[in-house]
Amino acid sequence: MALTEARPLPLSRSPWTIGGLDIPHRVVMGSMHTGLEAIDDGGAALAAFYRERVEGGAALVITGGLAVSSAGRGGPDYAVLGRPDVQERLATAVSAVHAAGGLAIAQLFHAGRYALLAGATDADGRPEQAVAPSAVPWRAARGAVPRALDHDEVLATIADFASAAVAARAAGFDGVEIMASEGYLVNQFCSPLTNLRDDEWGGDAARRRRFAVEVLSAVRAALPPDVPTIVRMSGDDLMPGSSTPEEVQELAIDLVAAGADALSVGIGWHESSVPTVQASVPHLAWLGYPERIAAVVRDRAPRAVPIIASNRFTDLRDVERVLERGTVDAIALARPFLADPAIVARSFAGSFSTVASCIGCNQACIDHSLVFAPVSCLVNPRAGRELEFPLDGPDLVPRSVAVVGSGPAGLAAALDLSRRGHAVTVFESGEPGGQFALAARIPGKEDYALPVASALSELAERGAALRFGTEATIGDLAGFDGVIVASGVRPRRIDVAGSDLPHVMSYERAIRDGVPAGTVAIIGGGGIGVDLAAFLVESHDPAERAREFPLRFGLDPSPMVPASGAAPAPTPGPRDGSQVTVMRRSGKFGRGIGISSRWVALAALTRAGVRLESELSYRAITPEGVEIERADGTIELVPGDTVVVCAGQDPVDRLAQELGRAGIRHEVVGGAKDAREVDAVRAAAEGIAAARRITAPTPG
Ligand code: SF4
Repeated sequence: MALTEARPLPLSRSPWTIGGLDIPHRVVMGSMHTGLEAIDDGGAALAAFYRERVEGGAALVITGGLAVSSAGRGGPDYAVLGRPDVQERLATAVSAVHAAGGLAIAQLFHAGRYALLAGATDADGRPEQAVAPSAVPWRAARGAVPRALDHDEVLATIADFASAAVAARAAGFDGVEIMASEGYLVNQFCSPLTNLRDDEWGGDAARRRRFAVEVLSAVRAALPPDVPTIVRMSGDDLMPGSSTPEEVQELAIDLVAAGADALSVGIGWHESSVPTVQASVPHLAWLGYPERIAAVVRDRAPRAVPIIASNRFTDLRDVERVLERGTVDAIALARPFLADPAIVARSFAGSFSTVASCIGCNQACIDHSLVFAPVSCLVNPRAGRELEFPLDGPDLVPRSVAVVGSGPAGLAAALDLSRRGHAVTVFESGEPGGQFALAARIPGKEDYALPVASALSELAERGAALRFGTEATIGDLAGFDGVIVASGVRPRRIDVAGSDLPHVMSYERAIRDGVPAGTVAIIGGGGIGVDLAAFLVESHDPAERAREFPLRFGLDPSPMVPASGAAPAPTPGPRDGSQVTVMRRSGKFGRGIGISSRWVALAALTRAGVRLESELSYRAITPEGVEIERADGTIELVPGDTVVVCAGQDPVDRLAQELGRAGIRHEVVGGAKDAREVDAVRAAAEGIAAARRITAPTPG
């Protein structure tokens, strides 16, 4: 059946079961940490977050990790199952899921050595210390060494999982998922890297697996037989020297034998040098891992159980293509439900053009969770803030609002206004999408074009006026009730001798028009400078990069390469990295790129042979390149047949000043408001907040 027919995605929408639980379709909302469980609001925010997603088509939601004990928390914003306040919040959230027609599964979580508990105390006020199979620290713990559990503590921890399962059931959950992947405690017991024990809990692969099996058995015994238990296991730790593929397969067999009702297959550890969730990781890159586990379960396990694949799925057309292979039973997506709470409903309706796609930036989700900041989404700044920005029907007083600019801030504002029933006109004098459109030309960031396209589709469907190619004037804007100025930024010129030479160009021109053959000297090593270097040295064909990805990291190739997603940008092919130099006066390269993506971007440049030079000053730009002076006073010419300036931005805020003089109600957001650090997360959040302010009733 073609995807555009009346009932697209027939396999995705087919029913299935986990244990005795009937589930109406095969797109699972996978576990993601939001921190909402730890907010002291009786569960209102968590309930609103889940309710919106179930109403948007999610049939089965799996919670973020719920700690089975205080020591098992990943950090201070994790909730501990069984505590009365947590129970109340979870019960509220589960009720909301059920009322909306969905099912909810609680993820039983213990961070083990990944717990970041510095300064935390337990219920008795004693300092908390991470615990683990063995005293093996990890680098993000900043020197803190976990305490190895003794035998009795291992048994007590197993009992904690069982108690947590009972607590989850008491809160109303329909089932549980044991987190045994991504390098957390259960996974730590399985790995020879973190389990150095030589007792009944370690020493050989079978004994390392025992903790996982005992946890599952205890949970199974604590729950009625018809309550399903999923185990989230690691398809591959992607850590040299960790569990072998054969050991992973044996674990899968043991888990099914011990009563797992389904296996959900994760990938990688936080410490792995292989990126797993970043934008540059190809879609479907990890499909081979659940498929191999599915095959071994089918061939050798004592009974059949569903296998759930996950990671780097963003488009339900890809989900359908995977299900057509008949290898796995369901797909869990997590971040795509942040980006678009209605991804399922829209896709099942065939309205793919309006799905706001997760772009894999991690900037408002994973990067926030790593520092225990509120989790949200760059593409959907309402995520996690559903109560703060409700969408309950149209506003009582419809307004006519102009939005000038269609970058992240402008689109967030326009969408929010339009969804609440206001009349919106978007003016855009340049390329629709602003900084998103520019970013979409960077290899690995092609998906940045997707939320622009979906936003424009939805705006058009809702009747918004899109005036592209139009420089808005005060005359154009005078008749609106309000104006949101989201006109963005322009590249800043650099005050260095020779900057007006013909071979010097801005990053914007370089990315839009391409860079002539030859050496390239990049002035500025922030996020844009690093992106520009990637633009020069990486292939612009996503399918080619998808084929290269496993080779780069010594992985098994994925059985599929993505068919959906953005088309390759029409730009030159990669050049030799040795022809490219990125310079920075001081500080870290890639500043401005999120913490979980920066290391991946820099590693790619290093691998390509790009020179990264810092602790220097710029003396002059010459026809041959850039003359720099190093900290020790030596002078050097960095070759550059082309010199590209990535030295920051200036705001495009002329209109704001004119609107102010004309007395027209307006709000300035995003780069037009503050161009010092172009931050799309901030810009989008400002866009929606401005949309609310400008439509708020005028006092008096
Ligand atoms: Fe996806 Fe970025 Fe949103 Fe996270 S912040 S859900 S990675 S679009």
